[in-house]
Amino acid sequence: MKIQAIRGVKDILPGEIEAVQRLEQAARSIFESFGFSEIRIPIFEVTELFARGIGATTDIVEKEMYTFEDRDGKKITLRPEGTASVVRSYIEHQLYLKAPVAKLYYLGPMFRHERPQAGRFRQFYQIGIEALGTDRPAMDVEVLAMLSAVLNQIGVTEVQLEINSLGDSVCRPEYRKTLKAYFKTYLSQLCENCRRRYETNPMRILDCKNEGCRAVTAKAPSPLDHLCADCLVHFQQVKDGLNQLKIPFVVNEHLVRGLDYYMRTAFEVTTTKLGAQNAIAAGGRYDGLVKELGGPPTPGIGFAMGVERIALLMERMETPKPDIFFALLGEEAVRRMLPVTIQLRGEGVRVEMDYSGGGLKKQMGLSDKLGARYTLIIGENELKAGKAMLRNMADKSQTELSLSELAQTLPERLRKT
Ligand code: ATP
Ligand code: MG
Repeated sequence: MKIQAIRGVKDILPGEIEAVQRLEQAARSIFESFGFSEIRIPIFEVTELFARGIGATTDIVEKEMYTFEDRDGKKITLRPEGTASVVRSYIEHQLYLKAPVAKLYYLGPMFRHERPQAGRFRQFYQIGIEALGTDRPAMDVEVLAMLSAVLNQIGVTEVQLEINSLGDSVCRPEYRKTLKAYFKTYLSQLCENCRRRYETNPMRILDCKNEGCRAVTAKAPSPLDHLCADCLVHFQQVKDGLNQLKIPFVVNEHLVRGLDYYMRTAFEVTTTKLGAQNAIAAGGRYDGLVKELGGPPTPGIGFAMGVERIALLMERMETPKPDIFFALLGEEAVRRMLPVTIQLRGEGVRVEMDYSGGGLKKQMGLSDKLGARYTLIIGENELKAGKAMLRNMADKSQTELSLSELAQTLPERLRKT
């Protein structure tokens, strides 16, 4: 029987993982310089958290969640995103008492039962942040600056930042009514999904990719024309801040996040290089979410980056190569060199060796194949003479080294080039 990975779930192999690691490192160091700390949230939670935290009428909750009963009959869901868990944790551990603004980041796998295709998986990775405790536009700007810094750092620059404002509890209900009145005339032209959204979540129709729906939404009333004074000022300050920092953006009046507790700023980073799956990061303000999940009313903003999609935009990086390959002939050479290899590794030197007991030619071939910078050759003759031969694999030059001093001389030699 041949067992394979589940459809839509993929391995990230050496050769692919390096870009992911680089993205993770860049994100960690930039987030931390902005004062964000990592939070490790569980991979599964009670289903209700997501049903309420993401919103019962979203695609995720309606169609995409991996939900099952565990052995105690408890309803469990594999996390489809991170925000709900971070907010749950924030409330559970009363993080609001520890600092006026909680700045948290997370990274790890998410699970959604979607139709697998290029750039769309059933297990995929996200790196995300949440800033809880302030509704000031300066935080929106800071969060966007941070996202843009990460993308710049890893060389993903041909992207577009789209922003919008969705209004708040003051102006949104009125806008929603206006929007529904508009769509009412065109109901028959909308896709089935959007006809359902018309009842549950009409703003999401604005975001539909279906051509029929697009024709209708093209002339739909814009949320920006219905913002209350406070929301207008907030949005203006976000735009001013981005301009001041010279972070390019476009306003996309059709960008929505769909939920009642998503408010004001919504944004997405897109690329033209990945075909249909063009969003590489998305986020927004969710000033109503903490309260919805049972915490004190607390504004928040966050985003999540799609790791696989971003990695596809990064230059492919090589798997690191050994600094030195130990070509050891005979058991005695292996025995004598074992402590040296361990010591070098402890000093951060990448050491490889042959594990098959092959002859010199075979071992040199392996060293070459692995791309080692140096090969250290120790056969019976060298052992007897208390010497080792260090071969520079690039220029083929060889140097004789004293066996007893290897542990001292090798690190120095390896550093020289
Ligand atoms: P999409 O419109 O692509 O379905 P989304 O709105 O569902 O995205 P979010 O929940 O906002 O996505 O997640 C943020 C980011 O995570 C997306 O911009 C995308 O890069 C990535 N992402 C979302 N779903 C998947 C998936 N199934 N496979 C790979 N990456 C994904
Ligand atoms: Mg989706």
